[in-house]
Amino acid sequence: MPQLLRVGEVDIVPLLEWQGTFITRGTLLPSSDAAEWSDNASWLDPTFWSAQTDGVPLHSRSYVIRSDGQLILVDTGIGNGKNRPQVPPFNGLDTDYLSRLCDEIGDVEAVDVVINTHIHQDHVGWNTRLVDGQWRPTFPRATYLLPGADYEEWNRSRGSDAGADEVFLDSVLPVVDTGQASFYTGERVVDQNITIVAAPGHSPGSSVVMIVSAGESAVITGDIVHTPMQLAHPEQHLVFDADPVRAVSSRRTVLAAVADAGSIMLPAHFGRAGGLWLTRDGSGFSIAEWVPLTAE
Ligand SMILES: [Zn+2]
Repeated sequence: MPQLLRVGEVDIVPLLEWQGTFITRGTLLPSSDAAEWSDNASWLDPTFWSAQTDGVPLHSRSYVIRSDGQLILVDTGIGNGKNRPQVPPFNGLDTDYLSRLCDEIGDVEAVDVVINTHIHQDHVGWNTRLVDGQWRPTFPRATYLLPGADYEEWNRSRGSDAGADEVFLDSVLPVVDTGQASFYTGERVVDQNITIVAAPGHSPGSSVVMIVSAGESAVITGDIVHTPMQLAHPEQHLVFDADPVRAVSSRRTVLAAVADAGSIMLPAHFGRAGGLWLTRDGSGFSIAEWVPLTAE
């Protein structure tokens, strides 16, 4: 039975694509304090960190949203069959994500809108699938909302990073070529409940998705945060942050907004499903409570 969160009149279903450990705390967060993680091992290990290996288990997760009569898919994971030699666990992935998504929504035709919070390989993968040897949009009716700043950055740096080029060629350009892409910058209202808000730094166009309905709210935080330990230390930059200074600033801004509004935070990569309520705690934030998912 799928599990969901209800935010006002909006239903949100988290959909796990992949989970595994391919990076250590020391690599992911170079400025983090090993001793502090050890001090928190009682709740970090094994869900969010392995004290034995220093590995950080990560999830790749989409969110299916039913809002205002539309079906919206936020972030599309890694995808199947993608050539990703730079990240071996993502290379040639073969999961049942699409069949589980279709169990939830009925058919790929049901998706009205796809939102990519940013253009990295683990957020745009299922934008496309291989059909007769060609990468085609997985969701034939959908409008794909893509951050314009990431698209421009790729055009500017095209040819300098084979991995990034491959992601664009197999997962982004096919939805542009069919006329299904729509580029957003700054704020983009998707419907009366859903707004995309820029939170740059992790990538130039990195964004979060705000859901506000009937006095309740949630924020899908994309790659603003990768581990709950970053809540206490928003200043610790992530190895994948393109612009660490801007990323830290955006992280603080988003986490403060979530905590102060009493919104539910919905993370992309934490090693546990569900949402979180945050509270301000010293110079950072801490988890007030996990928000349980309920049966549909
Ligand atoms: Zn990511």
